Amino acid sequence: MAELAVNYSQAPHLEASALQTPSTEQNNIEAAETYSQHLMPTEESFDPAKSTGTELLDKGFGQHGCSHYQRRCRIRAPCCDEVFDCRHCHNEAKNSIHVDQKLRHDVPRHQIKQVICSLCGTEQEVRQNCVNCGVCMGRYFCGSCNLYDDDTSKKQYHCDGCGICRIGGQENFFHCNKCRCCFSTLLKDDHPCVEGAMHHDCPVCFEYLFETRNDVSVMRCGHTMHRSCLDEMKEHSQYACPLCCKSVCDMSKVWERLDMEVAATPMPENYRNKMVRFPFLHPPQLKVAKPRCARN
Ligand SMILES: [Zn+2]
Ligand SMILES: [Zn+2]
Ligand SMILES: [Zn+2]
Ligand SMILES: [Zn+2]
Ligand SMILES: [Zn+2]
Ligand SMILES: [Zn+2]
Ligand SMILES: [Zn+2]
Ligand SMILES: [Zn+2]
Repeated sequence: MAELAVNYSQAPHLEASALQTPSTEQNNIEAAETYSQHLMPTEESFDPAKSTGTELLDKGFGQHGCSHYQRRCRIRAPCCDEVFDCRHCHNEAKNSIHVDQKLRHDVPRHQIKQVICSLCGTEQEVRQNCVNCGVCMGRYFCGSCNLYDDDTSKKQYHCDGCGICRIGGQENFFHCNKCRCCFSTLLKDDHPCVEGAMHHDCPVCFEYLFETRNDVSVMRCGHTMHRSCLDEMKEHSQYACPLCCKSVCDMSKVWERLDMEVAATPMPENYRNKMVRFPFLHPPQLKVAKPRCARN
């Protein structure tokens, strides 16, 4: 019997639940049994050798969610009191061209209070494990962003500085307090700090960069824009930052080569002191610098 209790308490959910109820003053074995009855279906006899806590937590894994997230719950949007798969599903529906312009809105993500378990349908306050059936509603869970995601290959992490969850692995990024954003550790000792660098819209497509889910490039001037938008700009032979007009990459080699060509081909007397513009040559690659946003 003592061994049975140890088995139960190894399941993280059961252990946590038992720890939350010390006031019952029951010993460990009794507490574990109370929870096993609460979590297991009553019509089935409970065999601890077969049904582990992990099995219960994993129930329905990979079978629920939307195009944005694999998760085992839906959210109740506090703004319109409607139920959606995730906040992106809400925002897409509520900002579509079919919605009256005055009624369009994004969900205030930090204010989401209620979620609905996809397995048993129980509506409850935001938490990782369903209060009714005990299933884990998202292997990655952030209680501050109300984010659930079963796909942990994204390596989600919550950045306190940013106040939101990001993806790409905490070990690969650092938060710069001046830029007020996370950057790749590749840029740790050398990135041009620009106050609130990420807190503006991409100058090409106007998406808010701080919350974008696409890759962002930091230009040499410290300004930022989507990598894809920058690539598109370069395809059109635009190599100047749209915000400050400085070169978006190291052009010194290009200037050097041009200088050498100029020196090697002296101007005929007739054309000396006349000025012309040279087209720019191909610039070197830029570093990708910001993790994509992993918000719910
Ligand atoms: Zn809404
Ligand atoms: Zn969605
Ligand atoms: Zn449930
Ligand atoms: Zn978070
Ligand atoms: Zn950050
Ligand atoms: Zn910085
Ligand atoms: Zn863009
Ligand atoms: Zn710039």
